Amino acid sequence: MSTHKLATNALHAGHDVTQTSGTRAVPIYQTTSYVFNDADHAANLFSLAELGFIYTRLNNPTNQILQERLAAVEGGIGAVVFASGTAAISTGLLTLLKAGDHIVASSSLYGGTYNLLNVTLPRLGITTTFVDASNPDNFAAAVQENTRAIFVESLGNPKLDVLDLEAIAVHSKAAGVPFIVDNTVATPALLNPLKHGANIVIHSLTKYIGGQGNSLGGAIIDGGTFDWSNGKFPEFTEPSAGYHGLKYYETLGAASYTFKLILEGLRDFGGAISPTNAFNIIQGLETLPVRIKQHSENALELAKWLEAQEEVAWVNYPGLESSKYNALAKKYLPKGQSGIVTFGAKGGFEAAKTISNETNIFSLLANIGDTKSLIIHPSSTTHQQLDEAQQASAGVSQDLIRLSVGIEDIEDLKADLKAAFAKI
Ligand SMILES: *Cc1c(COP(=O)(O)O)cnc(C)c1O
Repeated sequence: MSTHKLATNALHAGHDVTQTSGTRAVPIYQTTSYVFNDADHAANLFSLAELGFIYTRLNNPTNQILQERLAAVEGGIGAVVFASGTAAISTGLLTLLKAGDHIVASSSLYGGTYNLLNVTLPRLGITTTFVDASNPDNFAAAVQENTRAIFVESLGNPKLDVLDLEAIAVHSKAAGVPFIVDNTVATPALLNPLKHGANIVIHSLTKYIGGQGNSLGGAIIDGGTFDWSNGKFPEFTEPSAGYHGLKYYETLGAASYTFKLILEGLRDFGGAISPTNAFNIIQGLETLPVRIKQHSENALELAKWLEAQEEVAWVNYPGLESSKYNALAKKYLPKGQSGIVTFGAKGGFEAAKTISNETNIFSLLANIGDTKSLIIHPSSTTHQQLDEAQQASAGVSQDLIRLSVGIEDIEDLKADLKAAFAKI
């Protein structure tokens, strides 16, 4: 594991220039497959007697550099990248769980993840109990005999609730199940969940890590800390019929889950990222530490400014003294609270819609984490599939506007919102 600090790892980890003809930039290995030295080499690769590249659905040299870099910035022992954050979440869970298993999850989740857990996975016999994450004991109370994972977002999107990861980790440990944290909004530059008791970290690389809104990607980073031999995960300890009798935990130990994600997750579900997208995301990751500082600074200043505007009913940003998550933000996000701000329009649903319609610098679209400022009205868009009660538990009210504050000049951002308020 790298001994360097975050900003250095973001630029260098995983890339040995002597292995890439001295190229200072990470090259794009745009290939589907790799020529074997001879038939024995091919046989060894397929039997895992030797590790190496076979086919880009499983791995690729550009993707591998991104994987090693993400493992370094999150403090994990390994990482696997996917075509999107959603591919990472679905593959990560399906590699771990089977029909009859149960998840305990925070109710404050990205809309797509909520639907996966609430609607799609139950069709496969995998059920979820959603709990109010503001009381960590709710996780312990919801654990069942068949629970096999606890799933949360470190900084919920769009509720912006900062979770008490260490308190929840105590409960996941007692339950003997992995603690999985989606760290997309916080980013590894502001928070490393593995240092606070998480076992597995997930990212949508599409957001702040890619950072320019040009490529989808996802990742799972394995802390290597979970004991897969505790009796609850026979797929890790018994011979795998899908891999010529391989016993994952006996053979691969702490790296079992990382390998299972590749050998079963990518092989069988196929959500591989294109090497060109991995390259684009590497460009973003290299500047993440400086970008996220500016996102956080702009978001805090804009949140304070919004609090003083007469058209605004309320403002939610964990960095504000008025936020009920401010104490947790001071503990878990002391370097900055990232770029998402939500606020309520005093005029309710219609006023919120008007504001989202009338900005010029803030683009009306369904994404976060771009260098450019973005705006959306979740109740009529990202969360429209949920009923009002479900919207409320996800932290979405009818008057809520979500801003993803970019790194433009802060005075221009204030003026843009001010002009939109005038149209109400
Ligand atoms: C966007 C997002 C996802 C899904 O990622 P995609 O790359 O869009 O598939 C998952 N979790 C969170 C918190 C997100 O913001």
